[in-house]
Amino acid sequence: MSLDDNELPRTDEEWRVRLTPEEFHVLREAGTERPWTGEYVDTKTQGVYHCRACGLELFSSDTKFDSHCGWPSFDDAIPGRVKEIEDRSLGMARTEIRCARCDSHLGHVFHGEGFTPKDTRHCVNSVSIKLEPR
Ligand SMILES: [Zn+2]
Repeated sequence: MSLDDNELPRTDEEWRVRLTPEEFHVLREAGTERPWTGEYVDTKTQGVYHCRACGLELFSSDTKFDSHCGWPSFDDAIPGRVKEIEDRSLGMARTEIRCARCDSHLGHVFHGEGFTPKDTRHCVNSVSIKLEPR
């Protein structure tokens, strides 16, 4: 269910009718689901993770790894699909990640933790993504 660009909602009201309240809170209000509660935390299924809001392909299961942080973690994104924004909320300097097409909040990206050779962790809310199994 990938939306064409001209079908993308423009207003909060248009998003609200497309998304569940939890999806709306995380995707459009930069909320965070509670750790260990998301449906994809431990998922090993092969496939591609799409943006829950607009359907754009964002992450391959090949880049998913066990970070034990309570959220799905990927050490790389599909090139050009995820944009990074400086986030200084909550008194921390973090880098927010959003869908490059519909600007929906996905989570945050961290570097230098040493989890994988790419040394990058895209920490993503399960509710922001949708797995299409291969
Ligand atoms: Zn999107």
